[in-house]
Amino acid sequence: MKITVIFDNYPCKEGLTPDWGFSCLIQETEKTILFDTGADGNILLSNMNQLGIDPKIVDIVFLSHEHWDHTGGLSAFLGKNSDCTLYLPKSFSTRFGARNYKEVSESIEICKDVHSTGELGTGMKEQSLVLKTEKGLVVITGCAHPGIVNILERVKEIFKQKIYLVIGGFHLLDCSDSEIQKIISDFKSLDVKLAGPSHCSGDRTIKLFNREYRDNFVRLGVGRSLSTDCTDQEI
Ligand SMILES: [Zn+2]
Ligand SMILES: [Zn+2]
Repeated sequence: MKITVIFDNYPCKEGLTPDWGFSCLIQETEKTILFDTGADGNILLSNMNQLGIDPKIVDIVFLSHEHWDHTGGLSAFLGKNSDCTLYLPKSFSTRFGARNYKEVSESIEICKDVHSTGELGTGMKEQSLVLKTEKGLVVITGCAHPGIVNILERVKEIFKQKIYLVIGGFHLLDCSDSEIQKIISDFKSLDVKLAGPSHCSGDRTIKLFNREYRDNFVRLGVGRSLSTDCTDQEI
């Protein structure tokens, strides 16, 4: 399994454009999956181009929640690949004119070893992506509006397996240091091995996770690639 961050407000690889939002590509699974699309289609497509990723290789676009910084790149992407299937929470107000789409409410399998948590939360509803790997579960979140710890507790309940890695937006921008510390200790109680906060996690969250998780901290940013078979950063 390989994950490449295509859109993120944190920089990582030179030549790519950071911008507010999040998107990553999941490859070497049964289907190739684009998780969210960032805020801007031009930046999404130009980053894909720089990374040598042809939009046509994507089988599935998985949208976590209906915020512009996650759905903004979609129409430009569909302009390059209208054959993909869109997986979106049932609560979305639009289907974006997609030719093929699946509405998600409960937790479902998307392809072999790839699942959605189903729509979670009471305010802005959101689904997270869960990948089953030999090392444990990999959880990818968009903004984590239902609460990052609530999401992880639900993942444990649904899948009854160890959580190996959590990446994406943790939505902790307005949290105090002590609130962030509490979340880090919850991560440890939930036995989360590796943590990669980015996007709307906030600079202090990234700093504190880095300090507490040390070698098990995963730094994201646009262009970062993570692989279970050692391409860039082995996870
Ligand atoms: Zn966001
Ligand atoms: Zn959001």
